[in-house]
Amino acid sequence: MSNTDFVLAVEDLTVSFDGFKAIDNLTLYVDKGELRVIIGPNGAGKTTLLDLICGRTRSSTGSIKFRNEEMTTLAEHQIVRAGIGRKFQTPSIYENLTVFKNLEVSFPRGRSVFGALRFKCTPDVKERIETVADEIGLLDDLQKEAGLLSHGQKQWLEIGMLLMQEPELLMLDEPIAGMSVRERELTAELLKRICVNRSMIVIEHDMDFVAKIAHKVTVMHQGKILAEGPMERVQADPKVIDVYLGH
Ligand code: ADP
Ligand code: MG
Repeated sequence: MSNTDFVLAVEDLTVSFDGFKAIDNLTLYVDKGELRVIIGPNGAGKTTLLDLICGRTRSSTGSIKFRNEEMTTLAEHQIVRAGIGRKFQTPSIYENLTVFKNLEVSFPRGRSVFGALRFKCTPDVKERIETVADEIGLLDDLQKEAGLLSHGQKQWLEIGMLLMQEPELLMLDEPIAGMSVRERELTAELLKRICVNRSMIVIEHDMDFVAKIAHKVTVMHQGKILAEGPMERVQADPKVIDVYLGH
């Protein structure tokens, strides 16, 4: 395919696990500044799709272009460096370190925890940490040990750790699982805020939450795209009601 304005162009992507196609000839485009939500029943292949985009799983065939650059041949760390950040379902923060340190170690120069503990926190790094802490609503908790944060705050911290790398595409897998109603509302606001300068792919089940944040919704089923479009249209689609929303 020729160059496009899409941030992400996934084309004819397939991955087989022992002959079972978890992703089956899937094509998906994400715009600059777009917040795309992917929904679909368990086992639809949503997490596998993110695994493929971030290089954790290798595709059998097909192409994944990020800013017109092929990703399927790159290693995971190269994909991160290219500008794709991905949050997994379980948070992976350093519970014994402060919020500040957690953000500091996530600064690209920080690399490993040990590297970062030695590395000098220059004024520009400090400023970046404060900007990110403000974005994720943890500016008043910078000196708090991360293990003492609420479940929701830990999730936000992990999003902040990804933001330290200024990813152009940020992918979140079920970010509000286990959150309180209030934390869900705050997370919706947070995602809308951080999407201003980047594209995002969010996998989520909570339809009220999806309605609040999605620019466009993609419905996956059996490794394929079942429907795609604005929330209202997708919600009214009989195919979608049949395989997903009706249950
Ligand atoms: P979702 O996130 O939509 O619930 P997944 O992407 O986790 O779905 O899984 C899609 C299908 O692929 C499931 O049937 C799952 O068992 C299978 N699958 C995912 N990863 C692997 C793997 N590494 N090896 C074998 N099967 C897998
Ligand atoms: Mg999943």
